[in-house]
Amino acid sequence: MFRKIFPTKCVVKVAQRYYGTTVRPRICIVGAGPAGFYTAQYILKHLDNSDIDIVEKLPVPFGLVRFGVAPDHPEVKNVINTFTKTAENPRVRFLGNLSLGKDFTLQELRERYHAVLLTYGAERDNTLNIPNETLQNVLSAREFVAWYNGLPGFENLNPDLSGESMTLLGQGNVAVDVARIVLSSKTDITEYALEALSQSRIKTVHLVGRRGPLQAAFTIKELREMLKLSNCATKWRVDDFDHVEETIPNLPRPRKRITELMVKSLAEQEQHKTPNSGRCFQPIFFRSPVNFIGTGKVEAVEYVTNKLVEGRALPTDQRETIATDLVCRSIGYRAVSVDNHINFDDRKGCVINAGGRVLKQNLTGSDQTIDDIEDKYEIGLYASGWLATGPTGVILTTMNNSFGVADTVCRDFKSNTIRLKGSRTGLDLSGRAYVSWNGWKAIDSEEIRLGEAKGKLREKLTCIQTMLQIASNASD
Ligand code: FAD
Ligand code: NAP
Repeated sequence: MFRKIFPTKCVVKVAQRYYGTTVRPRICIVGAGPAGFYTAQYILKHLDNSDIDIVEKLPVPFGLVRFGVAPDHPEVKNVINTFTKTAENPRVRFLGNLSLGKDFTLQELRERYHAVLLTYGAERDNTLNIPNETLQNVLSAREFVAWYNGLPGFENLNPDLSGESMTLLGQGNVAVDVARIVLSSKTDITEYALEALSQSRIKTVHLVGRRGPLQAAFTIKELREMLKLSNCATKWRVDDFDHVEETIPNLPRPRKRITELMVKSLAEQEQHKTPNSGRCFQPIFFRSPVNFIGTGKVEAVEYVTNKLVEGRALPTDQRETIATDLVCRSIGYRAVSVDNHINFDDRKGCVINAGGRVLKQNLTGSDQTIDDIEDKYEIGLYASGWLATGPTGVILTTMNNSFGVADTVCRDFKSNTIRLKGSRTGLDLSGRAYVSWNGWKAIDSEEIRLGEAKGKLREKLTCIQTMLQIASNASD
């Protein structure tokens, strides 16, 4: 794919200059999620003699593949096999339990490596900034997902599943993941969450979007799964589909197929009785939350009704209040700056970069007048994945972005934009309780062993101290 963008001829030409030195390029990748592993994979293949350290905040690798992807989608996690091959390449070191911003600074990394790639993802979430957002039982989907996926630090979230209805604000695939996990009867998931979900009394999940069916952010595969969920009825609001059917012939293909599916499901809903379980999935469109209502605990959400103007949701003077026992906002993740020396856009929540090259701190990217690469970019500093693009896109999107950024890194070495003036030492690991790849393998084996006893693929460990203990017994 990248041959098309960067013709082989150009790579060969710059390669001649780069091979003049005997110093090995030493590269640090911060974050062991898909972006980190895909950039490492590409660099290993295209930059001879380079050595790569992947430093990761947690004792365990794989980022959102381990802690985001839904537990009932194990096939998505197969990318872990490719990531493992990369990590086991002798030119790569995995250094887990080391955090940028806590254990070391960006400056330290830049002194100790020829190039630093920031791929530490988007670990917070967006807020609505409406009244009463801090009421009890108003959570974020990010927290809920972290809880059922066993992310250390979330095991005591204890979402209150004792009420009958739950509201998801936002209609992306994360919201649909949460709806499916809550409404499905069985799932292979962290023990404490499985126990809590099996006691759950939630019967109705509202999936509320500010725009209409033609703008829904969820994708067809995820909708199909909801429609096929056993013991669960899907109920659409007929009014939300005014004039939708007539637009179908003119829609682009993916949007056309998902709209056809929604319209078909709407037409069939009269025939489908609510199952004995009483479980119901209710997408609701054209509503923006404006207030959470309740004393102590959330009891209802007040919405403004929107109309659509040129694809944008504009409020009308109509309001609607819908009762609920639990709310999860699911309006996107958010990256944060973990070091003052990162040129960061707080509004968009991403590192300010152009094609992965991080811009100098006083620059925003809109300034087209600077031609000199050294005046424009922090030489040797890059970002990829959700930290660079913002928190959208599936693993494949992250892979394409990361391969592109890694290609720029390779070209910058080969063109001497990054100068290999002296060898670099890499992180000073003395006195640091880091987890090596063998340490992770020991944790992995223990999780598989614990899972076997329960008839599951694995039982994730959630206590960092336990992980460190197991890893410390592994040889390097
Ligand atoms: P991440 O995966 O978040 O990886 C970032 C890594 O950096 C993490 O390991 C983190 O611990 C580490 N880190 C954070 N801070 C620091 C620090 N200060 N120092 C060192 N390391 C740090 N895509 C699909 O294709 N299929 C799916 O089914 C799917 N399901 C998803 C479900 C959810 C709930 C979410 C949120 C996303 C899902 N995605 C799915 C999208 C996919 O997960 C992303 O495209 C991808 O994970 C982004 O990769 P990343 O490496 O940029 O970020
Ligand atoms: P997303 O797809 O961007 O959806 C965000 C949703 O929040 C949209 O419905 C958006 O509405 C809404 N929203 C944003 N700001 C809002 C506000 N202020 N008020 C009301 N609604 C607001 O994000 P996501 O669900 O977090 O998913 C992130 C990425 O991961 C996506 O690319 C997704 O496909 C991927 N993912 C994939 C899978 C899978 O493949 N199974 C699973 C999970 C996640 P508007 O459209 O109106 O902005």
